Amino acid sequence: MNAPPLAAAAEVDAVVVGSGPVGLFQVFQLGLLGIHSHVLECLPHPGGQCTELYPDKPIYDIPAVTVCTGHELTQRLLQQIAPFHASMHFGHEVRTLTRQADRRFLIETSQGLQLVTKTVFIAAGVGAFKPRTLPISGLESFTGSQVFYAGEPTSTFAGQQVVVVGGDDAALQQALQLCHGNDDNSSHKAASVTLLHRRDVLQATDERVQRMHALCASGTMRFMVGQITGLTESEGKLTHIEVLGVDGLSLNVPLNTLSVQLGLSPKLGPIADWGLAMERRQLQVDAEHFSTSEPGIFAVGDINTYPGKKKLILCGFHEATLAAYAAAEYVFPDKRLPVQYTTTSPSLQQLLGVASRMD
Ligand SMILES: Cc1cc2nc3c(=O)[nH]c(=O)nc-3n(C[C@H](O)[C@H](O)[C@H](O)COP(=O)(O)OP(=O)(O)OC[C@H]3O[C@@H](n4cnc5c(N)ncnc54)[C@H](O)[C@@H]3O)c2cc1C
Repeated sequence: MNAPPLAAAAEVDAVVVGSGPVGLFQVFQLGLLGIHSHVLECLPHPGGQCTELYPDKPIYDIPAVTVCTGHELTQRLLQQIAPFHASMHFGHEVRTLTRQADRRFLIETSQGLQLVTKTVFIAAGVGAFKPRTLPISGLESFTGSQVFYAGEPTSTFAGQQVVVVGGDDAALQQALQLCHGNDDNSSHKAASVTLLHRRDVLQATDERVQRMHALCASGTMRFMVGQITGLTESEGKLTHIEVLGVDGLSLNVPLNTLSVQLGLSPKLGPIADWGLAMERRQLQVDAEHFSTSEPGIFAVGDINTYPGKKKLILCGFHEATLAAYAAAEYVFPDKRLPVQYTTTSPSLQQLLGVASRMD
C-alpha cells in the first residue's frame, strides 16, 4: 500500500498530513475535484485514533452507518478513496513545512522524503501517536513480526502464545479478548495468554479485574508481576522473555507474540514549529475554508479550532469538504469548480470509476 519511493522534491498538488478518518476523507473530497493527494502518516498504517485507540469498539454516529468499529470505518474509508489512487507514505512523520519563493510549500519527512506542493491539509488529530516502548535491547527488530503495540487487530494473535505487557484497561481488555476471541469471532482466541504487569495493582475497571482473576483461577490466563529484563532468540525468532519477579527471581517465559500495551502518547511534535497561528495547541482556522493563518495550508479534524468546534468525525468530514473546494483555487486558479452531485454527474462518476453504471 505504501507508495513507491519518489525522486527528491517531487512536485505535487496536495499533501495530506495524517491518515486518520478525516485525512482519509480529505483524499476523497480532493479526488472528486480531480486533485491527487499524497498522504504522509507517521504510523505504519492508516486510521488514526480509530485504529490506535478503539479498533474493536463500536461507533454509532457516522451518517447512514448504524454501527461500525474503528477498524471497519477505516477499511470503508480506504475502500471509498481507492478510485483516487492516493500516494500513501506510511512511516513518514512530517518534520518541516516551509514556504518557497514561488508560494508553494516544501515538506520534509523523518525518512527524508521531500515534496513541493501547492496545498497542504493538516489532519494530524491529537498529534503523532508514539507507543510507549520497552527499553529492552534487541526487541525493536521484532516489531511488526512478533512484537506489537496498541491497535493491532485481535486476529494477529489468534493461535499464538501471547504475553500482554501492561496493567490498564486496554491491556486487560486485550488479554480478556484473547482468551475468548473477539465479540464477532471466537476463532481469534490465542493459544495461551499471560498478562505481565510491573505491580499487582491494575488500573482497570473492577469488572475487568474480576474477569481476569476468574480466568486465572480457571487456568485460562496467567498473571505475572514483574518486569522484562531480557529476551532469547533462536534462528531469528523471539522465543522467550526473561522476567524479573518482585521476589528477585528471574523466569524465562516462552512466547511467540509479545503485545506491549503501555499506552500511547500523542505528540503534537513539529507542527507547533511551523509558524501557524495556534490556540491551546490547536491550529486556528476560519470556518468557511478551514484555512490556517497561512494561505494554502488547511487544517481539518481534531487538530483545528474555531468557534463552535466539535471533535467529531462527522464534523471533520464537513471540514474536509469545504477545505477541498477552497484548495481547488490554488490548484486550478483558472477553473471554476461548481458543486456537482455524484448521483448525476458523469465526470464525477468517471473519477469514481463507476461511469458504466449510469443509465
Ligand atoms: C475512545 C474514543 C472513541 C471515540 N468515539 C467516537 C465516536 O463514536 N464518534 C466520533 O465522531 N468520534 C469519536 N471519537 C473521536 C474521533 O476518533 C476523532 O474525532 C477522530 O479520530 C479525529 O480524526 P482525525 O483524522 O482528525 O485525527 P486522528 O484520528 O487523530 O488521526 C491523526 C493522524 O495524524 C497522524 N499524524 C500526526 N502528526 C503527524 C505528523 N507530523 N506527520 C505524519 N502524521 C502525523 C497521526 O499518527 C494520526 O494517524 C472517539 C475518540 C476516542 C479516543
